[in-house]
Amino acid sequence: MPLHVLVLGGTTEARLLAAELAARPGVRVTTSLAGRVTRPGPLEGEVRVGGFGGAEGLVGWLRERRVDALVDATHPFAASITANAARAAAAAGVPAVVLRRPGWRPGPGDRWHPVPSLAAAAEVLPALGRRVLLTTGRLGLAAFAHLADLHFVVRSVEPPDPPMPPDVHVLPARGPFTVAGESALLRGHRIDVLVTKDSGGEATAAKLTAARALGVPVVIVRRPPLPDGVTAVPDVAGALERLGLGGP
Ligand code: NAP
Repeated sequence: MPLHVLVLGGTTEARLLAAELAARPGVRVTTSLAGRVTRPGPLEGEVRVGGFGGAEGLVGWLRERRVDALVDATHPFAASITANAARAAAAAGVPAVVLRRPGWRPGPGDRWHPVPSLAAAAEVLPALGRRVLLTTGRLGLAAFAHLADLHFVVRSVEPPDPPMPPDVHVLPARGPFTVAGESALLRGHRIDVLVTKDSGGEATAAKLTAARALGVPVVIVRRPPLPDGVTAVPDVAGALERLGLGGP
């Protein structure tokens, strides 16, 4: 029987891990997607789409599909599935690994304003600028809906859903982004404040470099904590090692 690994996905790291696992003889990999994005990128191995029905549903799935190991490679802000995965893996007796890319760190010249939530970001915004680049994803715009005096440029992979602020310009786009492109975007829209989650990773870090160079302040939403007792590995190599599949 091959070793069956379930990867909870929706991130670049999950896609890279699936490719590594699919290339290993004796390993069967299934990637699970929530189904939020209508055209997800290509994935090696098997793919399933949609929620499991909470932690209990995931326990059933792990047992029925005879999963030998679970890797939670979901986005750092996908806190519900991460909590469910930790509970379900423990209940089903399946070894689990959490793969989380490290968060971003401010450098010299950065004007960062760390906040604990989107609501807190909305609170500090009016004191920082009038023209906002919002890159926190299409969900959660409701937190900014009352800010009628600010102009928002909202960048997201899929079109955002209401409620949202009245003065919104939507920019559909999927990373990776370049520093030159991000600088042109900030200048072109006369952005004077940027809002982002601390997603980490290279693909969307260029906006921070561009903001630093242009002196644009950044409101950065801190990550939710990992479940108690859970420690994460920072990259695909770390996840493979934890699975006992490290090395070439
Ligand atoms: P969430 O709030 O943690 O999860 C909400 C529910 O969606 C979960 O309880 C689960 O439903 C289902 N779900 C989430 N991820 C799933 C997965 N990989 N496979 C199957 N079901 C999943 O998650 P979210 O913040 O909405 O994010 C959804 C997905 O988008 C995640 O997979 C994440 O990796 C990706 N993503 C999120 C962000 C972000 O900023 N949050 C950014 C980029 C990508 P059930 O309870 O029914 O199982």
